[in-house]
Amino acid sequence: MNDDTYKGKIYTITSPDIEGTYVGSTHQEIDERVKQHEREYLLCKDGRRGKTMSHDLMETGNYVVRVIEDYPCANRQELELREGIWQEYYRRRHVLINKFITGQKFRDDYNMPIQCPCGSIVKNRGKVWSRHYKTNRHLTYLNDELTRINDELANINI
Ligand SMILES: [Zn+2]
Repeated sequence: MNDDTYKGKIYTITSPDIEGTYVGSTHQEIDERVKQHEREYLLCKDGRRGKTMSHDLMETGNYVVRVIEDYPCANRQELELREGIWQEYYRRRHVLINKFITGQKFRDDYNMPIQCPCGSIVKNRGKVWSRHYKTNRHLTYLNDELTRINDELANINI
């Protein structure tokens, strides 16, 4: 693994006070990313920014952060696509706090081919992603992954 690898990780935030799971991703140290969630929450309380999807969790002051997968990859976009798989998992099998699944829309300045976790190289243009998500290759991958994640979580009991 060389130094150009994007050191991605996927994490969840949960609280016994709130139903559901927040799924995020970062290439920072997890502690740094959590501090950022805290800062966003405080700025929102001061009226200096809008409410983020982790807001209610931060507000409890009683939450647990877990790194659920290390995902070294090429860039932010690849990490977001993988994050989307986990969000899809929680959305379907449990309760997902995030309002959006990440990675279903990239800005135009990412106008370059991106490798989907399913292995397909997808051009990042217009509606290409929404079409890609309906392909057999992607749907097969998604279903396999959701089953695999389910089994894995059952084994480690988180
Ligand atoms: Zn795919």
